[in-house]
Amino acid sequence: MVPEGLNALRETSQLSVEISELLRHPGTSRHFAFTEEVDGLGLEIGRVQPALDFDLELASLVEGILVSGHVRGLYQSECIRCLRSFVRPFDVELSEVMAYEDLPGAEEGYVVSGEHALLEPVVRDAVVLAMPLNPLCRPDCEGLCPVCGADRNATDCGHDTARIDLRWEPLSRLKETLEE
Ligand SMILES: [Zn+2]
Ligand SMILES: [Zn+2]
Repeated sequence: MVPEGLNALRETSQLSVEISELLRHPGTSRHFAFTEEVDGLGLEIGRVQPALDFDLELASLVEGILVSGHVRGLYQSECIRCLRSFVRPFDVELSEVMAYEDLPGAEEGYVVSGEHALLEPVVRDAVVLAMPLNPLCRPDCEGLCPVCGADRNATDCGHDTARIDLRWEPLSRLKETLEE
């Protein structure tokens, strides 16, 4: 049996699925499962590798198409403590309405164009939100030594590793000034 999703017709430059069967047939739905290369999901804090796995249910509503399901892939990021680069899998859940193009009040860019649901904005927004704001290579990363810069995950440089609470530093400097 050929998986249904393989019939999905996708334009070359955009991530979209052909949904002519669903158009204007509220209550019907279709399952799409496919792998697609999506470039340009790069973010400040990390990069998403192009090959993404999609497992989506597209359901026809009166006002548009409800897209729900999962997007899975890999992202590359740099640890905020030790600056090492690492790659990690992610799994994002989607649930968004894509409106028929001319409908007011629809989420901007979430539209059905002709017989295609243009999925890229929906996918990009969901993946962006799933990225960690403070990426860590592992939860207990020891980071770099503030004295000599050594990677404390790899070596014990012997420096005092007590963390200085930077919030109190201006106060202790003020105290020193006052005491002089
Ligand atoms: Zn780290
Ligand atoms: Zn050190």
